[in-house]
Amino acid sequence: MAAHAQRNVAVLGATGSIGASTLDVVARHPERYRASVLAAGSSVDALLALCVLHRPDHAVVADESQFARLRDGLSDAGLATRAHAGAAALDALVSDPGCDIVVAAIVGAAGLSSTLAAARAGKRLLLANKESLVLAGELMTAAADAAGAEIIPIDSEHNAIFQCLRSRQAQGEVSRIVLTASGGPFRGWSRAALAEVTREQAVAHPKWSMGPKISVDSATLMNKGLELIEAHHLFGVERERLDVLVHPQSLVHSLVEFVDGSTLAQLGLPDMRTSLAVGLGWPDRIASGVPGLDLLRHPRLDFEAPDLDAFPCLRLAWHAMTAGGTAPAVLNAANEVAVSAFLQGRIGFLSIPALVEDALAALPATPADSLDALLEADAQARRLTERNLAGHLFP
Ligand code: NAD
Ligand code: MG
Repeated sequence: MAAHAQRNVAVLGATGSIGASTLDVVARHPERYRASVLAAGSSVDALLALCVLHRPDHAVVADESQFARLRDGLSDAGLATRAHAGAAALDALVSDPGCDIVVAAIVGAAGLSSTLAAARAGKRLLLANKESLVLAGELMTAAADAAGAEIIPIDSEHNAIFQCLRSRQAQGEVSRIVLTASGGPFRGWSRAALAEVTREQAVAHPKWSMGPKISVDSATLMNKGLELIEAHHLFGVERERLDVLVHPQSLVHSLVEFVDGSTLAQLGLPDMRTSLAVGLGWPDRIASGVPGLDLLRHPRLDFEAPDLDAFPCLRLAWHAMTAGGTAPAVLNAANEVAVSAFLQGRIGFLSIPALVEDALAALPATPADSLDALLEADAQARRLTERNLAGHLFP
């Protein structure tokens, strides 16, 4: 293989689940990649431990009150890593010419600013932060196209579609894109049974090990709804050509059907390191640490339609995608507030779709012609949902 210049990788959300998988793949290829920037929200101890292992040039904590702890911790460990705090510092570091690849793996709309900064700076952007695409998908893809940024989707479904298409272009020859869904821990449950589920049950995903927010989204099927909107923006495909199939084994990561009747799918064990290796190495294939798929050990592939009555979040996301404009921003923001309240034990599981539905009804879609309009819709939906929570209108 030809020699490659070593590329600098910024890992945003380094202390999370995707962050850990990224650093695992990076560490397998020291001649090709090094982690140059590590960023986290507020968990300074975990960030410091990663700095000792990976010796980045820069470490960033979003919570500015944690700056001194980060700076002192780095110096106590004898590291040359420079400490930074706050969102503006992160945006500057991902835009810097010293950074080649940005892994956007912050959870929630909090990741929008840095993801957009990386797109505007023309970086290779390994995009896991689906909420930023749901909130501002058109602005994100337009910024990336204008700056020549290469977006490689990391979400396993979109990464599968990207592999089938070998690009983000799904023009006339694609007749349908089918996202697969595991169905989450409550597949087959009735709506009545879902009223009683606990936080522990909801975050225990049967197939994937992930952060708490996306685990709850997988349990409500909102995750698949966000992914429909994500696919619409990434591949320029309208609602009529998008579909969802529940596939409990989580081995087929998505399918692309072409006009000639061919269907291509990508298969593999459910481990995000495959997607991350595709994103880092593309168009080369590099080792990820994930073994190949032995179909004799996994001989069954089942498929079924999603249950939109038991899992209304998927229906609400279809609705927001069709309404367009500010509706996806409202859907996402209300969902973030509701999931956080559920994780804190403040509301029951069925209140998540109820709060999202209420926000979509109270804040009808308006055209989303600017980032300000989208951020305002996001803020309004958060305020409204917080008010609903404070009024104990939802059990
Ligand atoms: P996680 O909760 O494990 O990690 C989140 C990371 O974001 C942490 O490092 C945290 O410190 C950081 N963070 C939180 N708020 C921040 C802020 N304001 N500023 C900077 N950093 C902040 O989450 P995860 O499971 O790794 O998911 C990350 C993103 O990737 C999400 O958007 C999720 O939907 C997406 N994703 C994850 C998986 C998966 O397998 N985990 C799969 C597909 C997509
Ligand atoms: Mg996914």
